[in-house]
Amino acid sequence: MSTIFSKIINKEIPANIVFESDNVLAFNDINPQAPVHILIIPKIEIPKVTDINGNEHSQLLGEMIDAANKIAKDLGISEDGFRLVFNCGENGGQEVYHLHLHLLGGRKMNWPPG
Ligand code: 5GP
Repeated sequence: MSTIFSKIINKEIPANIVFESDNVLAFNDINPQAPVHILIIPKIEIPKVTDINGNEHSQLLGEMIDAANKIAKDLGISEDGFRLVFNCGENGGQEVYHLHLHLLGGRKMNWPPG
C-alpha cells in the first residue's frame, strides 16, 4: 500500500529534497531529531527492512548508502560522524511503511537509543 512518501516521490506533496537519482530520493525529515535529519528512500515501494531481498535489492541499498555518504559530505558532517538508522516494524518504531534510512547528524548521538 502506498504511503505519503510515494506522494513525495511523485511530487504530489512538497518536501525539501536534498538528493535525487533514478532510484533514490532524499529529503529533510518534517520533524527533525537532530540538526541534520534526512530520510533516504528508494523510489520503488519496499515497506520495510524484512521485505528486503539481498539478491534483488543489494544495488539499491548500495545506492542509498552512497547517497547518505554524499549528503553527509556535502553538509560537512562526514568527518565528525553521523548515524544511519532503519526502524523496522512496531517495536522498531517504524511509522511510515515505505523503507527509509534516517541520516542523523550535527550533534553527538546518544547510545543506547531510547
Ligand atoms: P519512522 O518512524 O517510520 O522510522 O520514520 C518516519 C519519519 O518520517 C519520521 O521521522 C517523520 O517525522 C517523517 N515524516 C512523516 N511524514 C512526513 C512527511 O510528510 N514529510 C517529511 N518530510 N517527513 C515525514
